[in-house]
Amino acid sequence: MTLLEGRIALVTGGARGIGLAIATMFVEQGARVVLADLDGAAAGRAAEELGDGRALGTRCDVTAEDDVRDAVGAAVERFGRLDVMVNNAGVTRDATMRKMTLDDFRAVLDIHVTGTWLGTRAAGAVMREQGSGSIINISSIAGKVGNFGQTNYSAAKAGIVGMTKAAAKELARSGVRVNAIQPGLIRTAMTEAMPQQAWDAKMAEIPMARAGEPSEVASVATFLACDMSSYMTGAVLEVTGGRYM
Ligand code: NDP
Repeated sequence: MTLLEGRIALVTGGARGIGLAIATMFVEQGARVVLADLDGAAAGRAAEELGDGRALGTRCDVTAEDDVRDAVGAAVERFGRLDVMVNNAGVTRDATMRKMTLDDFRAVLDIHVTGTWLGTRAAGAVMREQGSGSIINISSIAGKVGNFGQTNYSAAKAGIVGMTKAAAKELARSGVRVNAIQPGLIRTAMTEAMPQQAWDAKMAEIPMARAGEPSEVASVATFLACDMSSYMTGAVLEVTGGRYM
């Protein structure tokens, strides 16, 4: 038995990293998936690799209302419905407040907070009509504890938590669940760009003494996507190897 047989999912930022790992596991579990990414060509290639009509890649900037509406529309047009929405697209623009520009602050807030809101709103509209659905927002442990040099990112990821809970309350009576995941240090392009010193400092805080793999976030997303989490909404699940428990 597969956990997501016949389900239709959309993953933003799905061309690589955690988003691609989530899409890959969803397909392995029987879902068909739309990968919506700023890099449309990379999304197309990733979808091709996921194989035989099970995935569709499309260009989407999550900060653009029309792009998000079109990505949700593409899922419904191609596959007939939308059961799972993963708001995963994200960036970092790290600097201490002494050096961070207002543009870098706003850009990070826009991609994470506005992007997640647009995705939640567009998917929620379709799911409300269907009477079912699961929305999964990728926050970060930075939104719980705050990271030095990440006032923008920490604010954005905490914002996603509040939004998740508010949306969960609005959509619960329509059969739509909204939950969030807070990953810790996960091995992707985003974190491999970190200076070695910063990487070592984070490692020292992790009781399990290792970074997580994207597949270890994907398995929690799969749990939230499927009926095994049917009585969970507004929850925030930490995937951190015990960091900041
Ligand atoms: P990656 O940088 O590997 O992947 C992010 C993806 O998002 C890329 O494909 C990127 O496209 C895409 N993207 C960026 N901006 C936009 C946009 N405006 N619209 C659509 N897509 C966009 O990062 P991760 O896989 O590591 O991160 C995925 C999520 O997990 C993010 O929200 C991140 O904040 C969160 N997270 C990651 C952690 C980690 O340790 N890696 C820890 C905690 C949370 P492109 O390549 O074209 O830029």
